[in-house]
Amino acid sequence: MLCQPLFKKNISLKPYSTYGIGGEAKLFAIIHTIEEMQAALKELHERGERFLVVGRGSNLLFDDRGFNGAILCNRIAHLEWEGKSIRVGGGYSFALLGKKTALRGYKGLEFASGIPGSVGGAVYMNAGADKFETKDALTSVVFVNESGEIERFDKKELTFSYRKSSFQERKGAIVEASFFLEEDKSALLLQKMLMDKRVKSQPLKEKSCGCVFRNPEGNVAGRLIQELGLKDKAIGDAVISPIHANFIVNRGQALAKDIKALITLIQKEVKEEFGYALEVEVQMVPFEE
Ligand SMILES: Cc1cc2nc3c(=O)[nH]c(=O)nc-3n(C[C@H](O)[C@H](O)[C@H](O)COP(=O)(O)OP(=O)(O)OC[C@H]3O[C@@H](n4cnc5c(N)ncnc54)[C@H](O)[C@@H]3O)c2cc1C
Repeated sequence: MLCQPLFKKNISLKPYSTYGIGGEAKLFAIIHTIEEMQAALKELHERGERFLVVGRGSNLLFDDRGFNGAILCNRIAHLEWEGKSIRVGGGYSFALLGKKTALRGYKGLEFASGIPGSVGGAVYMNAGADKFETKDALTSVVFVNESGEIERFDKKELTFSYRKSSFQERKGAIVEASFFLEEDKSALLLQKMLMDKRVKSQPLKEKSCGCVFRNPEGNVAGRLIQELGLKDKAIGDAVISPIHANFIVNRGQALAKDIKALITLIQKEVKEEFGYALEVEVQMVPFEE
């Protein structure tokens, strides 16, 4: 049998995405340690089973039919300070890491306090806000590859750009990341300022996956969508947020197909009016490959 008792069968993915959308995963496991991640990936590899590692599901749109494979939900959440360096599990809350480090008087991750993902998801996406990105303070990553083997990477062996990392080309799990932070008494002030700005400009009380589109070169996706008068446009329970036009929110029982229909509509109108081909930032998770 497949890696029992780790895996459960036919688990709804709704609670594992901040959109609250998705069918069932054929197999599902919550992973608490690096060893569990190694065992799970090794087993899945030997069985030839498709898998996806997820963090907090804050940048994922699961399919309405679910996922015909195994979802590995990363909850590896250790945290250790070593002088000005911090070593943290890939499943640790990125927002909490941002708050904790700023509170302790260290700068470099203040922006993280408003990003409701995991550390692994933030590294994978090179999450960022304002002029800050996850890669800036990152020094190294521990990765478990699809065969279950541990690989260690220094930052110089990795590549990062706007919402991209070289992990998007690899199959496996980010199980630990290390960051180097400078002492700075103004860190807490900056963290609070960034958070205040976010509270005023984003629909944080609603179910969403943050910004749906990457900003096109030289412009801002939300501004283009707003200029088209698309705020409040709804398909089913999926609505373009009246607060921030680059957010699509789930007002109740929205389906993935409703979100996708709004995405297609926005892409078409932005292309016709402004000539930009908007790229989706949210990761679409198909039922089958
Ligand atoms: C209200 C709100 C505000 C947001 N604001 C921002 C923002 O300001 N800036 C920003 O960049 N993003 C923002 N986001 C999007 C999201 O929080 C980030 O992209 C975050 O980094 C995703 O982390 P996650 O753990 O939720 O990843 P998930 O959504 O679970 O996964 C995203 C991708 O990362 C992969 N992945 C996740 N964990 C791992 C791992 N351990 N190993 C390998 N692959 C992994 C998944 O397979 C998937 O492809 C926001 C989202 C919301 C809901």
